[in-house]
Amino acid sequence: MSFNNLSLVAPLLRAISETGYTSPTPIQEHSIPAVLQKKDLLACAQTGTGKTASFAIPLLQLLHQQKQQDPRSEGQALILVPTRELALQIAENFTVYGKFLSLKHLAIFGGVSQHSQVKALQQRVDILIATPGRLLDLLHQGCLSLRDIRHLVLDEADRMLDMGFIHDVKKILAQLPSERQTLLFSATLPPEILKLSATLLKQPEKITITPSATTVDRILQSLYYTEKQHKTPLLLHLLNNDGIKTALVFARTKYGAEKIARNLVRSGIKAAAIHGNKSQSARQTSLLHFRTGHIRVLVATDIAARGIDIEEMGHVINYDLPNVPETYVHRIGRTGRAGASGIAISFCDQEEKPYLQDIQKLIRKTIPVIRDHGFEVSATDQQEPVKMQPAAGNHRKNGFNKRKGKRPAPTA
Ligand code: AMP
Repeated sequence: MSFNNLSLVAPLLRAISETGYTSPTPIQEHSIPAVLQKKDLLACAQTGTGKTASFAIPLLQLLHQQKQQDPRSEGQALILVPTRELALQIAENFTVYGKFLSLKHLAIFGGVSQHSQVKALQQRVDILIATPGRLLDLLHQGCLSLRDIRHLVLDEADRMLDMGFIHDVKKILAQLPSERQTLLFSATLPPEILKLSATLLKQPEKITITPSATTVDRILQSLYYTEKQHKTPLLLHLLNNDGIKTALVFARTKYGAEKIARNLVRSGIKAAAIHGNKSQSARQTSLLHFRTGHIRVLVATDIAARGIDIEEMGHVINYDLPNVPETYVHRIGRTGRAGASGIAISFCDQEEKPYLQDIQKLIRKTIPVIRDHGFEVSATDQQEPVKMQPAAGNHRKNGFNKRKGKRPAPTA
């Protein structure tokens, strides 16, 4: 299947070809024709499946065609998302795919001054990407109206519910015209989402993209039980001893990613952090340096890592385990692409054990535990059958006294 078979207009095909995508992902293959036919959609898919393009591309086409048929057409699309990061990520996608079209999009989200958003709303916007809270604030202040919305996307609907946005979402839905196309994307389909979809969607096309078990099976996974304060020494130990050429290291927070990269650099390892606080150009530069081998380790947050497409990523290291189990599958899917088998290493401290349980449930396997690595959980905290005292030689080799958290005095 090629993008050329999806009845897309030339400016979109050109933009897609500039991204370097060679073929649509499964969700795109199903979603693009359905959205172009103005059908409602219930899609069970997570980030990493190409879901953003699966709605962004056909929506751009529908809005473009409406404008061509009637230049005074007022039709708009509204994309509701749970987080600022996702809003920005989606806006970036619209910039890329809509490069050769004259449609305007705008992301509005909380946590920043509303001034520039209000100003931008004074101009015509074709695609509005918004978090529910800020959108409601602006609606209450009369800064915009939703009467021209013809297409609604609820993205990461389950997360939106988890984050307690359901009331805000319902208030927004009440202000939308009933004549519209609605697309609902959710990583999981719990009963609340099914209930919501039953009230929102009219004879929806249903698409389910499950994380590929085969991807997971191809990857050599291992788990290191450790403590929070031992994670950096363990990472350094692995980078120095385990024949790791390049690695993508995942951290849960931007601050964490920054700190890890700083510590690696201090220890003489060429590393850079990429996360939402870095400008797009800074991220691109780091990626380029990584691709060309000038940087050995990229430390990333999940959001920032989405855009990373590097062939033959040697190792993926989960410095922090993700609290959303599907994220684990996406992270480790970054290694072992295109049939190559990859290696994924995960650290797990006491607090992360519930996350580990969820992950193992999702992938339906127990990740093999590496023991005696010298950076284990201390006796008082230990719940897992990790052998406590590495052999003396081994301990010295690791060069780290885990009890005191200090390097031992050099021995003769
Ligand atoms: P998403 O699931 O929307 O977060 O997308 C995950 C990643 O896949 C993003 O980095 C996209 O740029 C990339 N992507 C989207 N569609 C394709 C495609 N057809 N081929 C290759 N990569 C893609």
